[in-house]
Amino acid sequence: MAEKKTTGKTVTHNITHVESTTNSKEELLAVTKKNATPYRIAAVILWILGLVCEVFAILFFTIKIDWSVLYEEPGYTIAWIAALVLDLIFVVIGSILWKKANHMDPASKKNPTKFWIQNNLGIIIAAIAFIPFIIFALTDKNASKKNKTIAAIAAAVALVIGILFGIDWNPVSQEEMLENAGLDNKVYWTASGTVYHAFVDCGHLHNSTDLFDGSTTAAIENGKTRMCKSCEKRLEKEQQSPTVSKVAEDQSVESAQ
Ligand SMILES: [Zn+2]
Repeated sequence: MAEKKTTGKTVTHNITHVESTTNSKEELLAVTKKNATPYRIAAVILWILGLVCEVFAILFFTIKIDWSVLYEEPGYTIAWIAALVLDLIFVVIGSILWKKANHMDPASKKNPTKFWIQNNLGIIIAAIAFIPFIIFALTDKNASKKNKTIAAIAAAVALVIGILFGIDWNPVSQEEMLENAGLDNKVYWTASGTVYHAFVDCGHLHNSTDLFDGSTTAAIENGKTRMCKSCEKRLEKEQQSPTVSKVAEDQSVESAQ
């Protein structure tokens, strides 16, 4: 472990040690897959609910179903707007959960197309969740020009929001995750965090009193699939300096492979 002394305030951490339970890459991948499965199922269910809401939005807008109690007189607006808002809420929460699952169980970079689609599936879902509504609204024979325009703009705004939430701006790859797996250096993580840390005095851990420590494999098994960017930079710095720490040596051997 790095011998670097902290300057500044001393933070007392309550650290619980966690042993890893897997012995091979295959076993580790099985664990990450299992961790992510509930989030994937929840995402798919929410996306389906979003699409159901879109169907209702279309049926309300085109007055294929006439639940007059839902309508404002004489605009027919409330029902389809409510359905469209619910559609957006389901799509966005689904995308957030889907991206969380991808960080727990990252896709392989070996197939770049599949990697991109898995990490940005929310974009495709957003398109399916709003573009058909826009088409139905604009081509509806009964609606006024004004209502068609309002509907198309509202759905276009929802589409943009859905796409923005669908994009993973910082995807993790399976290769990146496995690069550090199996190292015997100690890393630290928190229950709610999504990354692990090489240094217990990392600034991102400053406000966390309850920490876990263990091997990188144990961290990955607990859903922390990559190293914190600050700790990564600090490790790189220590590699270049003459006082190279044991952790940094391990790291360079691993990344050279
Ligand atoms: Zn860190």
